[in-house]
Amino acid sequence: VSSEDSKDCTFCKIISGQLPCIKVFENDEILAFLDIAPISRGHTLVIPKTHVSRLTLASPSVMSSLGSVLPQISNAVIQGVGAEDFNLLQNNGKIAGQVVFHLHFHIIPRFKEVEGRG
Ligand code: 5GP
Ligand code: ZN
Repeated sequence: VSSEDSKDCTFCKIISGQLPCIKVFENDEILAFLDIAPISRGHTLVIPKTHVSRLTLASPSVMSSLGSVLPQISNAVIQGVGAEDFNLLQNNGKIAGQVVFHLHFHIIPRFKEVEGRG
């Protein structure tokens, strides 16, 4: 699918530095940065530096790189914002709500709800 290739991929542009981001973590294979429209404070996206449009197309080595850093990034994010807990979310395909076709995991910190503040 042409819309799933790397040519006009927003996250590839972030990786190459063509678009800015607020970095949370980076190594040779992985980048984590704050979501531009956070669901909660500290909402972070974790992506492989090679373009993979969705989970079903990810190689074992890409998944190994992601898996090896997801626990520590999640921990750093929730510690950093003082969250209690978090959701790890990953959408695949338009119908499932995927908007950016570059594989990403959402780390969404969850806070104890304060009465009277929605
Ligand atoms: P999806 O619905 O594809 O799982 O989530 C895509 C996420 O990427 C959304 O939460 C959206 O706010 C975020 N996003 C889209 N464009 C940008 C961008 O240019 N910069 C950043 N930091 N996040 C983006
Ligand atoms: Zn991409």
